[in-house]
Amino acid sequence: MFKKGLFLLVLMVNVVFSQNELPLIPKPQSIQTEKGSFVITKETVIQADKKTFEANYLKAQIKELTGLDLPILPVSNANSKIALSFVVESIVSTGSNQYHLDITTKKVSIQAESDEGFFYGIQTFLQLIPSDSKTQIKVPCLKIDDEPKYAWRGMHLDCARHFFPKEFVKKYIDYIAMYKMNTFHWHLTDDQGWRIEIKKYPKLTEIGAWRNGSMIGHYNDQTYDDKRYGGFYTQEDVKEIVAYATQRHITVVPEIEMPGHAVAALAAYPEYSCTGGPFQVAKQWGVLDDVFCPKEETITFLEDVLTEVMALFPSKYIHIGGDECPKTRWKTCPHCQALIKEKGLKDEHELQSYFVQRIEKFVNKKGRKIIGWDEILEGGLAPNAAVMSWRGTEGGIEAAKQKHFVVMTPGSHCYFDHYQGDPKNEPLAIGGYTTVEKVYGFNPHQPNYLPRKPTTFWVLKPMYGPNIWKMLPK
Ligand SMILES: [Zn+2]
Repeated sequence: MFKKGLFLLVLMVNVVFSQNELPLIPKPQSIQTEKGSFVITKETVIQADKKTFEANYLKAQIKELTGLDLPILPVSNANSKIALSFVVESIVSTGSNQYHLDITTKKVSIQAESDEGFFYGIQTFLQLIPSDSKTQIKVPCLKIDDEPKYAWRGMHLDCARHFFPKEFVKKYIDYIAMYKMNTFHWHLTDDQGWRIEIKKYPKLTEIGAWRNGSMIGHYNDQTYDDKRYGGFYTQEDVKEIVAYATQRHITVVPEIEMPGHAVAALAAYPEYSCTGGPFQVAKQWGVLDDVFCPKEETITFLEDVLTEVMALFPSKYIHIGGDECPKTRWKTCPHCQALIKEKGLKDEHELQSYFVQRIEKFVNKKGRKIIGWDEILEGGLAPNAAVMSWRGTEGGIEAAKQKHFVVMTPGSHCYFDHYQGDPKNEPLAIGGYTTVEKVYGFNPHQPNYLPRKPTTFWVLKPMYGPNIWKMLPK
């Protein structure tokens, strides 16, 4: 995927800059190309006022890309004629993540108003270092003024269906950072696995993190292996990943699915279902009828879980899922039916809305906000909820009209569990056909419908694991 992405970019910049192939993703807002190039040699030094994370990050990345281990010198001590100069002009919190990158034959300088802007300037510079230049490392002279267009730029990773080790998650975060994204949406619970340690409910990971087999082949084939599969992140692992992401200016938004996609949790604690179980952690993908029963005990359980989750993740938003919740069990459950009567609700959709609003109230009380998939619009949107529009863009448009924050993640453009080329040459995918060109061409902002202010965001949401392994270069 990323390799293809770079290839695509070269093609695109060929059109825009016929003489200067700039391998930059995303394309900066303003680029002024100039003659000549800056050559990085072993004499080059990195000038930085202090040994900040950013300066060390730059040093490490340059070493990885070129093999050169450049020293970091304080600005006043640097006497090299040729220097990478990093100047943070002022860390005044203007809220701006702008940066200015200036590359001349003598010097590279990055100016920014925030550490974040500075980090983005570094990413742009790193993207300009040719990947195959072991002999002479030349970076083209230019001036770039840039800042991110959207407030939420992110990638999702589903670690519930497919468990990824901690080191992989960090690598994934590195790639997110490389493209100046600022959000890692970490899908931690689903029918097929519960992946986060919750101290008050140890069975969530003792039982919920393991399944006795997985679906292999296409959904319609309904074939399974019988290998025990699973894993989970301890709270220490989570802290480590959140800290790693934070250094890279990435917010980790955890997704704890409710009221649907809950079978792994119910396998551990069947008392929070409508029927009482028993359940097994799901081997199959898809949408399952057994979901949380929105009775008081369940809400207390989920509040306890969220309390531990919010202590680990400082993100403003907590993703509560909210998608694909069949109402089958609720329709015949005495608890659910009594609750519908008691609260004067119209139907099971309003019951879901009641449930989401209860959870929202709790999360809001802790100073956080909820975000959910666009199904949370059904039966009435919770007052402060943000919406992630995955079943097309309509849900996002509707939520934006209701003045809610929206993250555009339509399956047509943002799901990487689709084929990206001829299925013959691709790993197993859910179906569909979504090329890199289509993904890159997605414009989340539909000016006919949405306000022009940056209240909309966009996310790329790779859903199923095996494709990801293929996508990331080793
Ligand atoms: Zn029920």
